[in-house]
Amino acid sequence: MQLAMRGPLRTEFLNEVSRILMEFSGCDSVEMWLKERGRYYRGEVNRSKKPRFRFEMMPTEEEEGRILPRVEDKDLLGRLCRDIMLRRTDAFLPFLTPAGGFLTGDISSTLQQVFDNEVKTEDSGRFLQAGQFSSLAVIPISMEAENIGLLQLKSKTSDFLSRNDVEFYESLIQTLVSALIHRRTQVELRERIKELTCMYGIAKLVEGSGLTLSEIVQGIVELLPPAWVYPDVASARIILDGNSFVTDRFRESDYRQVADLMVEGEKRGTVEVNYSEDKPELDEGPFLLEERRLIDTIAREVALIVERKHTEGEKARLQEQLRHADRLATIGQLSAGVAHELNEPIGSILGFAQLIEKNPRLPEQVEQDAVKIKKASLHAREVIKKLMLFARQTPPQKIRVDLNQIVDEGLYFLESRCAKEGIRVERKLAGSLPKIHADPAQMTQVLVNVVVNAIQAMPGGGKLTIQTRASKKTVSLAIKDTGAGMDEKIKKQVFLPFFTTKDIGHGTGLGLAVVHGIVTSHRGSIDVRSALGKGTTFEVSLPIAEARGGKE
Ligand code: ADP
Ligand code: MG
Repeated sequence: MQLAMRGPLRTEFLNEVSRILMEFSGCDSVEMWLKERGRYYRGEVNRSKKPRFRFEMMPTEEEEGRILPRVEDKDLLGRLCRDIMLRRTDAFLPFLTPAGGFLTGDISSTLQQVFDNEVKTEDSGRFLQAGQFSSLAVIPISMEAENIGLLQLKSKTSDFLSRNDVEFYESLIQTLVSALIHRRTQVELRERIKELTCMYGIAKLVEGSGLTLSEIVQGIVELLPPAWVYPDVASARIILDGNSFVTDRFRESDYRQVADLMVEGEKRGTVEVNYSEDKPELDEGPFLLEERRLIDTIAREVALIVERKHTEGEKARLQEQLRHADRLATIGQLSAGVAHELNEPIGSILGFAQLIEKNPRLPEQVEQDAVKIKKASLHAREVIKKLMLFARQTPPQKIRVDLNQIVDEGLYFLESRCAKEGIRVERKLAGSLPKIHADPAQMTQVLVNVVVNAIQAMPGGGKLTIQTRASKKTVSLAIKDTGAGMDEKIKKQVFLPFFTTKDIGHGTGLGLAVVHGIVTSHRGSIDVRSALGKGTTFEVSLPIAEARGGKE
């Protein structure tokens, strides 16, 4: 009972108990069979064998839904013990007690009596093994009315044990069963504490914000070995997306427990604990059932952390983009406001420059300067006009417009930028186009957004072709560049809001989303063709406005 209180491992416990019983009884061997968690274990201590203690898991077989230990056919002693344990012996066997305890002072003759037929037909040498001993007592270990094991006391001396001895050991078995239960509880408690310590460690790692995913996973892997039964020989590894996180002295070995790392139904790696040397059989190889549960829990925990980190990253990215978009909108509004403010003074400058120009008595130099002022102010006024158009200060208004005219006006801003970037612009505008029903400012925005992308796709210069065409029901605008192009995967996503392949500050991923929105609200369509390294063409088609009706 004292031993059980310490919660030793099953092997250690059985070893100790057998040794105590051997010393106490004066027998030459004590063997114990025990069922725990659906498996049979067998421990034997033998005075004359080296090593003195042996422990193994017994092979089992199923019979009528019950798991039973399997014993080799030629192991007659084993078969006898098994039958005694299962209460399947023939009636004539001398049972000593109602509990099923059994005693013989002469094993050989008992075996001959029980296995009469087999002994006659087979070579008697097969019994020599059993013949090492003369006396045998078998005491079933029962728990909740079921025999869950047995105790064998064996001696080389014949008639070594008495009926009284058997009765004594039978009463002792009750204490042994309590001790077994106690040991189990102690072990479970200790493993539970280890598990909680480990989970607490993980929680602390996760809460201690500011750690990257890699740092957290490395922290977790280091929590593993201390939670296992043999920390001294344990090392751990977590593989996540092909990256390995290991503890010091990590060594891959045959003695290991592995759990898959499943993130949203997809295997992303493994969590494993390795023992550098072989250890006695427990529930799963040298590992405990509790350790299986713990490693599975840890794998699930890591998966959750991976998921959470991923969403956090997405959220941060989205927020950054929203902030950027917000900034853009603010800049747009601001510039519209500024443009408005500047309109007045520029008007005055222009007006006064024109007045000065009209004065007939001006020195020639002054007259030339006044012309320059007038020209510059006219240019400034034009810029302001476009700026206000861009900022869409006016509510969207669909009117009958000529797409060619919009393209002409829109390219005004863009051509100088193209020139700077070493991009040649070719206009292939249709001679005359049927009118469309559209908001000119929005159409300009479509043009600018697509052209700006084209410019950004040609950092080393290139050629930009702008073409307009009419078909039976639609007019179309094609913008073609000789830039980097896109692969299929990118091409599929270009219209998604916030999809960008550009660095923060260069792309918002909103340009084409806005374009798409505008085009669809005009009941048009947009189409992309692209070849990696060759270039890209965006083509917008818009329905031709119906012939002028009575409404307008
Ligand atoms: P942004 O320009 O802010 O990235 P867009 O919605 O305008 O957002 O474009 C989305 C993405 O589509 C770009 O990041 C780029 O990868 C791709 N893209 C758009 N136009 C082109 C083009 N002409 N050539 C190559 N890739 C392009
Ligand atoms: Mg863009």
